Order: sequence, then C-alpha cells, then structure tokens
Amino acid sequence: MKPVMAVHGGAWAIPDDLLQAHKDGCIEALERGLAILDAGGASLDAVEAAVVVMEDDETFDAGFGSFLNVEGEVSLDAAMMDGKTLATGAVVDVRGVPNAVQLARHVLASQHAVLVGEGAQRFALQQDVIVCDPGALVSPRERQRWETMKGLDTSAWAAELFGDTVGAVALDQHGNLAAATSTGGSPMKPLGRVGDSPFVGAGLYARNAMAAVSTTGHGELIIPLVWSKTAADLAGTGIPAQQAAEDALGQLEAIGGRGGMIVTDAEGRIGVVWNTPHMAFAYRDPATGEVVAGPDA
Ligand code: ASP
Repeated sequence: MKPVMAVHGGAWAIPDDLLQAHKDGCIEALERGLAILDAGGASLDAVEAAVVVMEDDETFDAGFGSFLNVEGEVSLDAAMMDGKTLATGAVVDVRGVPNAVQLARHVLASQHAVLVGEGAQRFALQQDVIVCDPGALVSPRERQRWETMKGLDTSAWAAELFGDTVGAVALDQHGNLAAATSTGGSPMKPLGRVGDSPFVGAGLYARNAMAAVSTTGHGELIIPLVWSKTAADLAGTGIPAQQAAEDALGQLEAIGGRGGMIVTDAEGRIGVVWNTPHMAFAYRDPATGEVVAGPDA
C-alpha cells in the first residue's frame, strides 16, 4: 500500500502577504511526514513530525507564533490519535511547551488520554519534552496584533477570528491511519477557553477502516457537531474521502459554522474542504504522486 498524507495550516481569511508562507510551510511539513512514510515508517510518527514542522514555523497558530489570549499569553492545545489502537493523547491549555504535539504523543503512550494545564506541564518535565519560558513563544507579530486588538470589543471574536491551527492525517504502508492537530486557539480568546482542536471526535479522529481527520475553524460550532467523527463515520460507509468531507462541511454550514478539514480514508483517498476565504493545505495526490498545495498567492 502506497502511503498517503495530507496536512493543513488553518482555514480563515489569510492575509495576502502570508499566503505564500502558509503554502510553503504546509509543503515542508508534508515532505517531512512523507519522508517517514516512504521509508516504511508509521503514520503516527509521520503526523507528529509534520505538525512539529508547522509548530516551529511562526507562520502558523501553533507553537511559536501562536495567537495570544486576552491576557497576552500563548496557551496551547494539541492531540494525536492512533487509528489502529484508538489510543489518544491530548494536552489542553499548556504554556511553555513549543511542541505541544510531542507532549500529546507522550500522553497517548501513557495510561491517560487527556492532561490539562499545570499537570500537563509537569508531565512534560517528566518526559523530557522540550520546555521554555512561556514568553518565548510570543512572536513580535502576535504581540503587535494583540496590542492592536487590546481594548476593542471582541465579543464577536469566536465567529470571525479563528486562525491557522495545524494538523496532519496519514495512512502508512501497513494500512494504519493517524491524525494530529495543534493550535494556539483563536486570537484574544478568554482565559480558559478551549476550542475543538484537542477534542477527539471534534478536532481530530482516526480509526482504521474509517478515516483519519483533522479540522480547523470555529471551534464552538465544530465541537457540537463532533465534526471529525461525523466525517469519519461518513467515510466509514465507503464513500470517498472528498465526498465525506463535503457532506460534513455541509453540516457545519447548516449551523452557520466556518472552517475546513482534511480527510484520508482507509482506501487512501484524500478529502480537503473549507468554506472560509482560504485554507492552507498540502497533500500528495495518490493518483499522480504530485504535491497539491494551497492557498495560491
Ligand atoms: N479550531 C480552532 C479553535 O477553535 C481555531 C482554528 O482552527 O484556527 O481553537
């Protein structure tokens, strides 16, 4: 079985001057993951490696360069899911962990499924996951954005300001699916607010024989739809990943939600959909072997 992979770098109105950086960052992440898959590696390793690339890239709303919350801090959520075993690992509201997806991977390997806040940070120290001063994840660009937005009425923020969350899905040559999602959440999010990204079934899902899914967009509407699981269930009926993704997007649209998702089904077909002005994504076309990526500048 030829390995399959797709990544995304968020669905929103990406500013013109950042379009190319989003596309390039997604391609780099895809290539990192594909190198693992093409060498016979596991889908779980591939999605983790791809997400690390995007967390390290300040273009994206994950790791360094994440949007700041209302207090001007970076607070991160991430999760991974193994489609073979259904093992899951999620971390919520962590500070000072540049690669939250790696911490999620350690949670996945532990007897727990979700760790939040200080407990997750302590776990990072026990697992030798790289930690840093929380302030070191604040990029100059995001500090400036925060200064501009500070004091404005952001009551409508949740419907408009979601951003460049990152994610990856893969099918390895052993037929195993995996998914990963990582985010700094939405800009100016209230203290304690968590979107869909770290929730299994909402921000990601993976189950062999069904699909691997990672989402981005308006978390408050993605959560009640259990949007990733919805798409995986549709793919599990045997319809192609693209059709499953389109049907799921229709359900988000029906409740006034905006966002995007990437899907890889058990047959190795790919689905990519969004209803925002742009979505950053990259995948290797299973038919041609060519890399397909967006957004176009
Ligand atoms: N879904 C994320 C959240 O609600 C935001 C995003 O995808 O950019 O936190």
